[in-house]
Amino acid sequence: MAVARMNMNCSIQSSLSCILKPSYFFNFKTTQFKNRLYFPQNHLISSKRSLLCTCSGNFQAGEKAEPFVITTPLYYVNAPPHMGSAYSTIAADAIARFQRLLGKRVILITGTDEHGEKIATAASACGSSPREHCDVISQAYKMLWKDLDIAYDKFIRTTDPKHEAIVEEFYFRVLAKNDIYRADYEGLYCVNCEEYKDEKELLENNCCPTHLKPCVPRKEDNYFFALSKYQKPLEEILEQNPDFVQPSYRLNEVQGWIKNGLRDFSISRAAVEWGIPVPTDNKQTIYVWFDALLGYISALLEDKEQISLQSAVSSGWPASLHLIGKDILRFHAVYWPAMLMSAGLSLPKMVFGHGFLTKVL
Ligand SMILES: [Zn+2]
Repeated sequence: MAVARMNMNCSIQSSLSCILKPSYFFNFKTTQFKNRLYFPQNHLISSKRSLLCTCSGNFQAGEKAEPFVITTPLYYVNAPPHMGSAYSTIAADAIARFQRLLGKRVILITGTDEHGEKIATAASACGSSPREHCDVISQAYKMLWKDLDIAYDKFIRTTDPKHEAIVEEFYFRVLAKNDIYRADYEGLYCVNCEEYKDEKELLENNCCPTHLKPCVPRKEDNYFFALSKYQKPLEEILEQNPDFVQPSYRLNEVQGWIKNGLRDFSISRAAVEWGIPVPTDNKQTIYVWFDALLGYISALLEDKEQISLQSAVSSGWPASLHLIGKDILRFHAVYWPAMLMSAGLSLPKMVFGHGFLTKVL
C-alpha cells in the first residue's frame, strides 16, 4: 500500500512537471487559442465527449475510498476568462482524467471568486451592479469550460450563500483560537492586489511589482489574522514535507518569505461594501482572500447537505492538489495553511505553482 501510494505520488509529480510546460499544451500560436476562447458554444469541440473517462462516479475503487481532490484557482471575476485561466483549468482537467483512469474517485473543483473592491469597480465601470456583473462573468467561465470540454465536478461561486455560511463558521473558529484581533493599520495599498504591501517589496515610485502601478497610502482600522504565530509550525511543515510546495524552486521561494519573518495580515476592509460582512462587525467586510480560499472547502458540500464545515470536510477535505499560478503562491502556501491550522483543519497535500504561458518560470 505504501509503495503504491508512493508510485502514485511520483506519477502525479512527473505528469505535473511534464504537463505544465506551456509548450506541451499549446503547440499552436497563442493567437489561435485566444480566438478559440471566444468561439460560440459547440463550435470548438465536437458533440462527441472525450474518449477519456470524464465521469467521476465511474471508478473501480470503493465509493468510500479517499477521493483525489484537485482544485483550479477560483477565478477573479473582475474581467472575462483569459488564456491563463484556461491554462490552469486544462492542466487540472488532464490530471483529473489521469487519476480517473487510475481508478480513483476524483473531485475536480473550480469556480469564481466574486467579492472585493476590484469587482465593485469593474461592475460600476460597465454600469451594472456587482451581482449582475458576477453573474455574467461567472457564466462566461462556465461556457468556456463547456466549450473546452472541462469535466469539473464542482463549480463554487463565493457569493453562494452556502459558501458565505462556511466563511462565517470558519471566522468564528479562528476567533475562538484568539487568532483575530483589531488594530489600526497604515500602509501602502495596491488596489489590484487588494493588499497592503511591504515597502521593501515595491519598485520605484512605490509601484507594485506585479501590477507596475503605484500603491496608494491608506489608513483604516481592520481585523488582523495572527499569521506570525504560525511561523515556526509552517517552517516545520515545509521541512518535513518537501513535496508540499512544488516545483522545488517555488518551495525555496516560500521558505525565503517565511525566513524573512511573517507579519500578521489584515482580514477585513472598512471601505469595501461588496464582501461578506465580518460576523462580529457589520461595518467591515471580510478580506477577499480570507473569503475565497474557503471556496475549496465549501465547494465540497453536497446540495442538500447540512451546511457546516464538518459536513464539507467529510466530503473530501483535505485537497490532494491545489493547482495555481505562481502569482498566488504566497496566499496558498503561507496564508492558507496557517488559516487551516488555526481552525484545526487538515492541510492540503500539495500546492503546485505553475508559471505563466508567456514565461515558463
Ligand atoms: Zn499589485
